[in-house]
Amino acid sequence: MPELPDITAYLSALEPRIVGRPLTHLRIASPFLLRTVQPRIEEIEDHTVRALHRIGKRIVFEFDNGLWLVLHLMIAGRLHWRPLGAKLGGRNNLAAFDFPNGSLVLTEAGSKRRASLHLFATEAAAKEIDPGGLDLFANGVFATDLAAFRTALTAENRTLKRALTDPRILSGIGNAYSDEILHAARLSPILQTHKLTEEQWQRLYVATRDTLKLWIDRLNAEAAQAFPEKVTAFRKDMAAHGRFGQPCPSCGSPIQRIRYADNETNYCPQCQTNGKVLADRSLSRLLGSDWPRTLDELEALKKR
Ligand SMILES: [Zn+2]
Repeated sequence: MPELPDITAYLSALEPRIVGRPLTHLRIASPFLLRTVQPRIEEIEDHTVRALHRIGKRIVFEFDNGLWLVLHLMIAGRLHWRPLGAKLGGRNNLAAFDFPNGSLVLTEAGSKRRASLHLFATEAAAKEIDPGGLDLFANGVFATDLAAFRTALTAENRTLKRALTDPRILSGIGNAYSDEILHAARLSPILQTHKLTEEQWQRLYVATRDTLKLWIDRLNAEAAQAFPEKVTAFRKDMAAHGRFGQPCPSCGSPIQRIRYADNETNYCPQCQTNGKVLADRSLSRLLGSDWPRTLDELEALKKR
């Protein structure tokens, strides 16, 4: 699922291409994509994109008539910048946003149709869908202090993995970057937030800030060169995520995993769990509600 660094890269690639330009035509090929009926979707056509925003993992297009179009890519939704009028053949192509200078095409791999579009009449209505987690990078700047970070994460006693990925607690972080953050912080994914020491809080805070900054800068730099066509949760420079069995870049031990639903958490036992390999499936059952469920279920969580 595209997370905060990926969404930031999409926004920085979209900004010079579509902000200030009119959406001349919106072509929707999938009947499941649009989840709202009012305002009518035609109302954004021939209107200019005034600004782009991010709400958690969602991309928001603000139009000059005050309408807010919210796109959630979910797991397999991706954006592509193609020559104007690009065809929508093939069942993975869900929609095309035609601008005078090109077409923004939305695709979704696989058979499940999870990506969604919502059109709202006002900014306030659009913000209703925000699950409400702390946004560490509001307006593109890391402006969260340790106290606010800690308050958000300790509102409930959760495993670190769950707390980092719960969109009601933190905004924009999912399975991939939570693995990277915990590896950088040298903390166990099953450690509970009410059990962290002062020193561990400091480490988690710095690791969260630095990991996200590193990836935002890296992906933004790529997006400045070319439209991000290869957005993936598995990047070759990641330390732990998606690297089961491969050597940890810090200590060389093989990266381990905890599998659950259609997902897994990756960690280094040497760096994060005092050398302990955590039991796999049985562990996620044992942890019950303190473990992330499916990504879909997490995304469906509403404000407290
Ligand atoms: Zn290690």
